[in-house]
Amino acid sequence: MSGQAIVVLASGNAGKIKEFNQLLGELGMHVRPQADFGAIDVEETGLTFVENALLKAREASRVSGLPALADDSGLEVDHLQGRPGIYSARYAGEPKSDARNNDKLLAALAGIPAARRTARYWCVLAYLRHAEDPVPLIVQRSWEGEILTAPRGDAGFGYDPLFWLPSLGRSVAELSAEEKNRLSHRGRALQALVAALDETAAS
Ligand code: IMP
Repeated sequence: MSGQAIVVLASGNAGKIKEFNQLLGELGMHVRPQADFGAIDVEETGLTFVENALLKAREASRVSGLPALADDSGLEVDHLQGRPGIYSARYAGEPKSDARNNDKLLAALAGIPAARRTARYWCVLAYLRHAEDPVPLIVQRSWEGEILTAPRGDAGFGYDPLFWLPSLGRSVAELSAEEKNRLSHRGRALQALVAALDETAAS
């Protein structure tokens, strides 16, 4: 990998590493999982996606001594005053379970009409040049939808079978991986990060 700048990703998710490498590779960056450097998941004690993304990126950078990137994401449901929010992965408690999270969400919205089932996914990406970087690069993107009354489709993960896209007439779990990457909160945040890094490098 000589000639490429290494960036540590504060995650061990193989899908994320691949997706991030595809886009950041264009900028001469090579993304490697934090486990390669002995970093482990930190406790997500922040109260916002931004704080949690920063905590994760800072720890990965501290342990590796390299620039680091982290993402934090979740689902914000209007009728539930923004819940499950930063607690999306563990909404129904430990051990984390997509099926139990989805059941809990359906129960919380029982009897609520479609017009009041609006929601959005959020993704925040934080990039630190080093662990003490006082000017982290942060991008955040959302994806608007509505929560269905029953699951549809079996692609994706998490809340995807319940997340309805009115403009497409499909749930996220009915999209191909390519469609989801192009449209999603995470895919668009990554595109925005690439543009911001490119701009920073040029200035
Ligand atoms: P994170 O890995 O700490 O960012 O956890 C994010 C959680 O939010 C996941 O475990 C899911 O419950 C939910 N989430 C975030 N993005 C998505 C998505 O694209 N589809 C489905 N669920 C998502």
